[in-house]
Amino acid sequence: MTSADLFQLRSVILTSIERINESSVIARKDFLNTSEAQPGIHVDENDHARDEATLNTQLELHSRNLCLRNQLYAALARIANGSYGLCLRCEETIDLRRLQARPAALLCLHCQTRQENKVTATLHPSVGRRSPEVLNLSLLTA
Ligand SMILES: [Zn+2]
Repeated sequence: MTSADLFQLRSVILTSIERINESSVIARKDFLNTSEAQPGIHVDENDHARDEATLNTQLELHSRNLCLRNQLYAALARIANGSYGLCLRCEETIDLRRLQARPAALLCLHCQTRQENKVTATLHPSVGRRSPEVLNLSLLTA
């Protein structure tokens, strides 16, 4: 990675943090403007349910943005200490195209894929192999 690449990625990261900070301010204003923040003004249950769903969606988005912002700050710290662009697991260089797509990436594509496959196998143990019920059913129909 050239110093120009690093400079460009740092700029992208700073812009992303700025956007998140701006959206965070807007989100706070939206929170304050929802009826949820002003209890007692609803008379219609449908309006209340809709507002509650909207508020939950906003909170989820806000939470994700704060998480991403933390990851971006961590990427800036890695740029400052010279470790940016190195996979945390295998310590190989992360492909520049991956960093351009995901500037806060911690893992190279190979290690990221392995991690995601482990998570999938943990959450969905039957993925990739048949459950006993499916095997029994296939024996009956064969
Ligand atoms: Zn790796």
